[in-house]
Amino acid sequence: MTRFITAKTILGGSASRVDPWFGTSYTINLYRGCSHGCIYCDSRSTCYQIDNFDDIQVKQNSIELLHKELRSKKVRATIGFGSMNDCYMPIEKQLQLTRKALEIVHIHRFPIHIITKGTLVTRDIDLIKKISQVYAAISITITTADDSLSQLIEPNAPLPSERFSAIKTLSDNGIYCGITLMPVLPFINDTKENIEQLIIKAKESGARYMIGGFGLTLREGNREYFYRQLDKQFPELKQRYINTFGDRYNCHTQQSDRIFNFFKQKCQQLDIDTKVLFYNNTINRQTSLF
Ligand code: SF4
Repeated sequence: MTRFITAKTILGGSASRVDPWFGTSYTINLYRGCSHGCIYCDSRSTCYQIDNFDDIQVKQNSIELLHKELRSKKVRATIGFGSMNDCYMPIEKQLQLTRKALEIVHIHRFPIHIITKGTLVTRDIDLIKKISQVYAAISITITTADDSLSQLIEPNAPLPSERFSAIKTLSDNGIYCGITLMPVLPFINDTKENIEQLIIKAKESGARYMIGGFGLTLREGNREYFYRQLDKQFPELKQRYINTFGDRYNCHTQQSDRIFNFFKQKCQQLDIDTKVLFYNNTINRQTSLF
């Protein structure tokens, strides 16, 4: 079910704080809830107070708010799309809120970092190219190279093979793009073979970087949902999680140092960065791309 709501503000965060993983300072969420159905989603946590997370609420006044709020910002800092939901989930095809927001961002000349599993991002290549004159990074999240495993853990998102094709299209269009490999779920996609396959496919697709997160977070709300899905898809695993992690928030992949070292070495071998270049230190380089 889709509902239309009126938001009070649209940009979160502050120019004085930079996210160490993604280089973002502001965040924008044009929707509440997400329809991709990932079993590990942190945005389901009770602390965010989003009822019926799979039903989408559309912030109908978001574009006017964005225009107004960007006009009042004194510092141009990177806006992150995709912190609490996926800005290219299927409803975006019809509503085009993300596209309209990108138009406003372009008018105000702000830098962006989009994190998505939605292949619909390629629709907006024309705008992303323009924003890249300031700075744009597009990260597509891919957690497994195996389409059938993805259907168990990210049931409504485009298949990994389709996401790799989207990376290739972005890259062929000269857009700075890479892969967020997160979360790496203990006992599910944390194998060396999976990581290696992902890195090889990333290289073939033209990804410039991979950001790896070797574990997941579990807390009230998303833990219960995750365990219910484990019971359906991987019946033996819930007890293993409980025995290994108890009620811990950070649930690291077993031998995460070893896997992380393997990840770093393999990326280095194939000339893929393990960090995304941030706006401040890339502006000249980004400008020179076009
Ligand atoms: S795409 Fe992101 S926000 Fe949407 S369900 Fe998956 S993890 Fe959650």
